[in-house]
Amino acid sequence: MERTIFERIIAREIPSTIEYEDDEIIAIRDIAPSAPLHLLIIPKRVIRSVDTLEQADAELVGRVFLVARDLARKHGVAEDGYRVVTNCNDHGGQTVFHLHFHLLAGQPLGRMNSQAPTAPKASSSMLFEGGLLVLAAICMAAVFNSMNPKQIPWVKKEYERTQATSSEIERYLAPAPVPGAAQGAVPSMPTAPTEQATSATSTSPKPSETPATAAEKPAERPKSTFVAEPGMVREIGYEAFVRLMSAGPFHLIDARGAEKFAEGHIPGAVNIYGGEAQSRIPDILQSPRDRVILIYCDGGECELSHHVADVLKQFGFGPIFIYTGGWAEWQTKR
Ligand code: 5GP
Repeated sequence: MERTIFERIIAREIPSTIEYEDDEIIAIRDIAPSAPLHLLIIPKRVIRSVDTLEQADAELVGRVFLVARDLARKHGVAEDGYRVVTNCNDHGGQTVFHLHFHLLAGQPLGRMNSQAPTAPKASSSMLFEGGLLVLAAICMAAVFNSMNPKQIPWVKKEYERTQATSSEIERYLAPAPVPGAAQGAVPSMPTAPTEQATSATSTSPKPSETPATAAEKPAERPKSTFVAEPGMVREIGYEAFVRLMSAGPFHLIDARGAEKFAEGHIPGAVNIYGGEAQSRIPDILQSPRDRVILIYCDGGECELSHHVADVLKQFGFGPIFIYTGGWAEWQTKR
């Protein structure tokens, strides 16, 4: 099984703010806190969830709660109170499959004794049934949100969808593109864990390869004068996408899931799955900011590129260009 983000944090491959550590347990700050104090207490031993606990783990889990108690005291929240929860599997809302406990505190956290929604009673009126179903859905979301630190947003996020103007694109093109210069990815964005699993259909260079050794080595070209535009997100079509790739160094991100990425991707792309972009923040922050960022996903209605762009934007990256045709269009053009 693929190593989780927590195994990589424990191995110090990914930075985190460590609050406590001993031979068996580490406690870190959650990267996307759901309360003023949100710590993750993680047994170092690889245990996937509560459901895979064994008798031999009993003492370790007991110690987790003692660490939680001590951390709550250390942060001065013990008297007001706090919550220690763990999510198990899909319906429990677990996203990282390495056992961990959330310590939440710093504000009233609400009650957790809501009843699970019951199925609506049979009724002759379809309108009434429909109303009950909507109500049940709202109740379920409310229960989920009150019990789960990773809450469902009440309103679907609307992303910025501004088409890049030709002058915005021209700004990032080298003064005199070299004829015949093909794609020139400089894949210096951190490589997703799934990058190693890239299939034979992929031609992307390994992250350790310098541009000079990469298969799609850029041709010599005049240096473009890059001016960062933090937070700028624009949509582009195929022509602009290809021109920007020919113009100079860039980050190319494939925002689709790991499996699709492994089946094939645009050369030079690294995989940052849009659904988990938040968890890649430590990787992303280490990336150089001296180049444009190009993102694509499936094309069509796919919003994964926008998820990634949104995270990058929050951390001051830009300009970010989203190739809306995505993988679907790219394949038809090659
Ligand atoms: P789960 O949803 O599995 O119960 O909790 C996983 C938690 O891990 C989430 O609250 C999420 O914000 C946090 N998380 C995910 N990736 C990272 C990371 O790279 N660093 C830190 N510190 N927390 C992370």
